[in-house]
Amino acid sequence: MHYLYGPVPSRRLGFSLGIDPFLKKSCNHNCIYCQLGNKKPLGFEKIEGVEPQIIEEELYTFFKDGGIADYITFSGRGEPTLWAHLGRMVKFVVDNFKHKKLAILTNGSTLWRKDIRVEIEKADLVVPTISSPDRDTYLRLHRPNRNDDFERYKNGLIKFCSEFKGEIWAEVMLVEGVNDSVEQLKKLAVFLYSLPLSYIDINTPVRPPAEKWVVPPDEDKIKLACKLFGPKCRVVGKFSPPSPRALEIANLANTIFDILKRRPEQVSNIANVLGIDESKVDEALNALVAKKLVMKTSDKYFRIQHNAQ
Ligand code: SF4
Repeated sequence: MHYLYGPVPSRRLGFSLGIDPFLKKSCNHNCIYCQLGNKKPLGFEKIEGVEPQIIEEELYTFFKDGGIADYITFSGRGEPTLWAHLGRMVKFVVDNFKHKKLAILTNGSTLWRKDIRVEIEKADLVVPTISSPDRDTYLRLHRPNRNDDFERYKNGLIKFCSEFKGEIWAEVMLVEGVNDSVEQLKKLAVFLYSLPLSYIDINTPVRPPAEKWVVPPDEDKIKLACKLFGPKCRVVGKFSPPSPRALEIANLANTIFDILKRRPEQVSNIANVLGIDESKVDEALNALVAKKLVMKTSDKYFRIQHNAQ
């Protein structure tokens, strides 16, 4: 499988089978916390990316071979709503895998576009990023394409939320000194509460960010944000490993390699998300390092070697 990854035991989605429709980072933002590194943001033009037939075949093969997944999730190396074939692929998943839930993780900045709202209207869950209470914070945090506009982004979110029939969870990424002041959190809380959200998930940059100075707020700030955001708020924590289905992940090294294709990780976090012992992760990582597919960085993260992409 080249463009499917996982299923990864996701902290929020159970077993999530990811779809990455891009060959490299393809995004109209260049967030300071992005784990894919720095890259000039693209515009709002649709991107050809991977041919949809290839992903359709991979999905058929995955489920024909007994693959397990609670969610089929579009995310990957960029902004999935910019993929030229998203509408076709949403229809394909809905028509062919009725028993699976379909999720789309988006930076939210394209929802002002009617064509994109229509393309994703049949999804079960959409998770837009909503981390900025004002234009200055939005520009500083996301460093969007110069054609992006904060008011248009905000109005797009409001419009989308008023039309969409599935669930919407907000993802709030908090960065110390950028969007964690009491005033910013209060203002953001007002906006979040005006939207029909099922959950408000607070996330923090835990993986190597695009900018080295980016760090998570301290625990008190996160607690304060949670208090202000109210009962729908969840702090994205470690995935609890309850499921014996983790044992069904047959090829651990391949699974880990798929995880590392998306982002660098540490042993402990891989063990947490897979619900297995760190020693097993170590063993699989050593095999990948020996094959020169993966390297260990000085800050104890593992990332795939460039020539292994
Ligand atoms: S974090 Fe997501 S939205 Fe931000 S630049 Fe990276 S891929 Fe794009």
